Amino acid sequence: MAELQKQLSRTQLACSCCGDLKIDQRLLTALETLQRLAGKVLEVEDAYRCPAHNQEVDGISDGEHTEGTAAHVRIPGMTLQQMYELALRVPEFANGGIGAYDGGFLHVDVRQGSSRWAQVRGQYVGIQHLVNEPVSAAPHRKAVHAATAAL
Ligand SMILES: [Zn+2]
Ligand SMILES: [Zn+2]
Repeated sequence: MAELQKQLSRTQLACSCCGDLKIDQRLLTALETLQRLAGKVLEVEDAYRCPAHNQEVDGISDGEHTEGTAAHVRIPGMTLQQMYELALRVPEFANGGIGAYDGGFLHVDVRQGSSRWAQVRGQYVGIQHLVNEPVSAAPHRKAVHAATAAL
């Protein structure tokens, strides 16, 4: 289970302005799960931010970074949509926060309560501006299809 923690260097997780580091264990566990599902090494950036640095880059709307419960991830070779669908399969992220950014990365956090958003050209918008809910999120319709096919 400690694979990812070994791979992630302190500099990837620490605040880029001062080097302070505070990371929630649940975030590391969830990132491990995401990496296992992806089958490749995650690119993690911008995890912990000290309050001053967070104010500078994103302000209050992205506050989980100051709690050490959020990170920005990119999975090499995957589209934003594919990364989003994979993140939804990680319970901590599905029940927490997932943001899609037009820079081609996801913000994931382990807050209590589902939250979704997208950021396009610096503006916060609905998640559907960048990604669609996967078809598998509508099991009802899928079941109807299967029943029709069986006839
Ligand atoms: Zn800092
Ligand atoms: Zn973020």
